[in-house]
Order: sequence, then C-alpha cells, then structure tokens
Amino acid sequence: MSIPVQTCPCQINPSPDFTSSALAYQDCCQPYHDGLLNKETDKADCKNEYSAERLMRTRYSAFVLVIPEYIVKTTLPAQQSLLDIKAIEAWAKETDWAGLEIVAHTPKLGKRHAQVEFKAYFNSSDSTADNLQAHHELSAFVRVADKTTDKKSEHYENWYFLDPTVAMSVTQKQPCICGSGEKFKRCCGVYLP
Ligand SMILES: [Zn+2]
Ligand SMILES: [Zn+2]
Repeated sequence: MSIPVQTCPCQINPSPDFTSSALAYQDCCQPYHDGLLNKETDKADCKNEYSAERLMRTRYSAFVLVIPEYIVKTTLPAQQSLLDIKAIEAWAKETDWAGLEIVAHTPKLGKRHAQVEFKAYFNSSDSTADNLQAHHELSAFVRVADKTTDKKSEHYENWYFLDPTVAMSVTQKQPCICGSGEKFKRCCGVYLP
C-alpha cells in the first residue's frame, strides 16, 4: 500500500468525484479495531456512528491493515469457528488494496438486518488487464444482542457480518444461527444461500 500512514484505508476512494476530506485512521477505524481486540479499551468512543456501514468500513480497513482477528470477531459468532483465519490473512496480504466505495447502505431490513453494497478496489497483478479492479458485493449484516453486556449499554446489540461462503448445516425450520429465536428461514436464512 502506498497510502499516507495517517489516512484510514476505508477513506481512500479511487473515484474522481470523491472530494470530502479523509479521516485519519486514529479518528476512523482504529478505535473499533482496538476496542474489539483489547476489551479494556472503552468502546463508548465509537458509539455515535455504529451501523452496518461502519462495521463494513472497519472490516475493509482490517483487510488492508491485515488484522484477520477483527474479521473473525465481526462475523456472526455461530460462523466464527468455521472461518480459516490463515486464509483470510493470506488473502488480505496478497491483495494490493486500492480503495473502498460504499454504493448503498440499507440500514434497516426487517427486524434485525441491514445490507451494504460496496466496491472494494484492488490493483490487479495481471499487467495485461486494466489495473484497477473491484470486488462488487452486497453484504448482509445482523444485529445480535450481546448477553454479556448491560441491557442499557449502547453496545447491548452489535452488528455482525453474515458470511455467505461459510457452509452451515442448518435446516430452514431450525432456530436461527443468530440466536434471535426465529426460524432460520424467516431470519438470516433470507440472506444466506
Ligand atoms: Zn476507516
Ligand atoms: Zn437470524
């Protein structure tokens, strides 16, 4: 990455019409990364903007900065043990990241879901092709109650990424993997293959 150290990776956008001033890493994704990885850090620092889009941005930054633990911990808890942290780390390192563009954010879908459409840009190693390429994805997120946290806390509910690539043996009629108490097919099953 040839970005200025102080600029947060999620603030870098290769599109020419991007004009707003970029936030520094310490004012953007760093409090989220530190807050989740070191429990003693006060997560209250980052409560104002907590949303699925914010989570998406912090996950992108964690890929760029190669913090695979953050990627795992922000995935739905029931899926975490099925993730290959070494593969995530290798992919994050191998990719020559070039910026993030949030295409659309749907902050509320039903009772507890949200979707973020984004383009994660990277430079292709294939010199015959157009260098700048993008992963264009629509990601789903679910809000889950954190039972270890006080109900009055801002962080009683946390957003988690629903990873569509993780194969889980859950039937449509079983209780949902997010712990909502609803049937899977009426809850996260809508957003997972
Ligand atoms: Zn950021
Ligand atoms: Zn669910």
